[in-house]
Amino acid sequence: MTLDVTDLRKTYPTGDEALTGIDLSIDGSETTAMIGPSGAGKSTFIRCVNRLTEPTAGSIELDGTDLTALGDDGLREARRDIGMIFQEYNLVERLTVMENVLTGRLGYVSGWQAFRRSFPPADIERAYEILERVGLGDMENKRVDELSGGQRQRVGIARAVIQQPTILLVDEPTSSLDPETSNTVMRLLTEIAAEQDIPVLINIHEVDLATDYADRIVGLHDGEIVFDGPPADLQDGALDRVYRGGDPPESDAPRPADATADGASQGDAASDGVRVPADGVVSANGGTPDRSASGGP
Ligand code: ADP
Repeated sequence: MTLDVTDLRKTYPTGDEALTGIDLSIDGSETTAMIGPSGAGKSTFIRCVNRLTEPTAGSIELDGTDLTALGDDGLREARRDIGMIFQEYNLVERLTVMENVLTGRLGYVSGWQAFRRSFPPADIERAYEILERVGLGDMENKRVDELSGGQRQRVGIARAVIQQPTILLVDEPTSSLDPETSNTVMRLLTEIAAEQDIPVLINIHEVDLATDYADRIVGLHDGEIVFDGPPADLQDGALDRVYRGGDPPESDAPRPADATADGASQGDAASDGVRVPADGVVSANGGTPDRSASGGP
């Protein structure tokens, strides 16, 4: 699977220029962490890729198909290939763990089956396997509103994985979690990328988690990429550019991936700002409408 984003721009109706021309290619089974301060455009980027937010310009190709050109039907089909995992989990609180996981299959069953929430035995079997894999082996009948944050995020991961996506997009998966649980979730995501042989793109503002778990770091500042390279190259000067928009050390600006050290410490940079929530409550996960819950017991 290859995701090829070219000159992606997003200007909100308010005039906010969230993305000013992003070029990014992702493939293989790598974990890429997109870092940057609050307001850098990380969430807008991920939401544009899934077209939960409409880009203003640019192309987003998933294995050669331009997602920006798709109509409703094409988009519904393409979204099956894109697993989304959200900061606030986006689960149906009053349904069970199993029911939530199976909503990841809604894009594959008929409208009537979806309405009845009736899934093929193979899907149910696979759901048990995945729940086991994410460490929720005995929790299938628990209601989601009885779970801890870490457990909910694992349900979100299981729901994305059962879709059999060809790429996983993850939006701030650890923001609501304690440090230990954050590490567990990051480890799980990177292991799953390797096991499923799919790329994972994770938006995250905690630099330490990004460098500990990702193979590649993409740094965003004010809607543009100011760093792209392995974690080892993310030294103080590069961090300064990502978190403060600081100038490169030389007047002759290096390419983002050639960052050299100077300036702020990682601790300073990472403590930048308070997260400003983006717009909109997301109600759909690649064809997994929450309304599936509405007819159920
Ligand atoms: P991040 O995820 O890095 O915190 P966002 O993508 O949420 O950044 O936001 C990028 C910029 O776009 C910010 O300036 C933010 O205020 C703006 N923005 C995000 N969502 C909206 C929206 N719905 N309407 C107007 N501006 C928005």
